[in-house]
Amino acid sequence: MIREYMHFHRSGWCSDNTTLPVTRQKIYLKRLLLESMEELYLKDCYLKEFEATVENVKDDRFIVLDRTAFYPNSGGQPHDTGLLVRDGEEFPVTYVGRFGGKISHEVSAPGLREGDRVKGIIDWDRRELFMRYHTACHILSAVIHNETGAMISGNQIAENKTRVDFSLENFDREQLKSYESKVNGIIDRDVPVDISILPRDEAFSIPSVVKLKDAFPPDIEEIRVITIEDVDRQACGGTHVSSTGEIPHIEIFKAENKGKNNRRVYFRF
Ligand SMILES: [Zn+2]
Repeated sequence: MIREYMHFHRSGWCSDNTTLPVTRQKIYLKRLLLESMEELYLKDCYLKEFEATVENVKDDRFIVLDRTAFYPNSGGQPHDTGLLVRDGEEFPVTYVGRFGGKISHEVSAPGLREGDRVKGIIDWDRRELFMRYHTACHILSAVIHNETGAMISGNQIAENKTRVDFSLENFDREQLKSYESKVNGIIDRDVPVDISILPRDEAFSIPSVVKLKDAFPPDIEEIRVITIEDVDRQACGGTHVSSTGEIPHIEIFKAENKGKNNRRVYFRF
């Protein structure tokens, strides 16, 4: 069975209400073949530790596992860090990326060998912060779109400097304050966030997902959908909190013009 999940790159990420033509979305499609590693974070964003077997080692520092809970750098969400541990010996994970369809863990200590059994431990403070920011990005994008009709054209999560780009000619300080308070109102309502991996047909019954139908090759059988109850619904491969009440209040602290019709807002907690 071929399973695929959709993930959008930072320049064309997943907004529920995005109306950008699919060709402009620069969509990143991730294909999970049977022989690929199991990506545990897709189903359980709160998994902090896991057991795995080393499948491949390159240059003594790039490690491929048969399964992983480490999130690779993608979709505007930075990679996880943490540890791989073999019999008490620690191999710090400094970078995680996707190369040739496989997730590669770069470790800063040599010695791991093919066939080793390891325990993976995610640096939870870092991941939890990025989960909060990612869900907050979805909320802010939904608010901006609902208020202005603007299309979301990108996002990048970063500690204290997360940004969302959208197409709008003008905005002012008062508008930004109102977006901020609307987002914080949704945070205060403690709205549940659901992650579902849906059969293709079911996913395409969702208006905000079917808009992007042409971007999914016909052999995709399943699509991962993030639903923030009455707020937002998007195809997305990132990690999210389970309820908006876990997110601190946001502060929009900077706005920039990035060319005609392109605005960028920065927010932090
Ligand atoms: Zn997302």
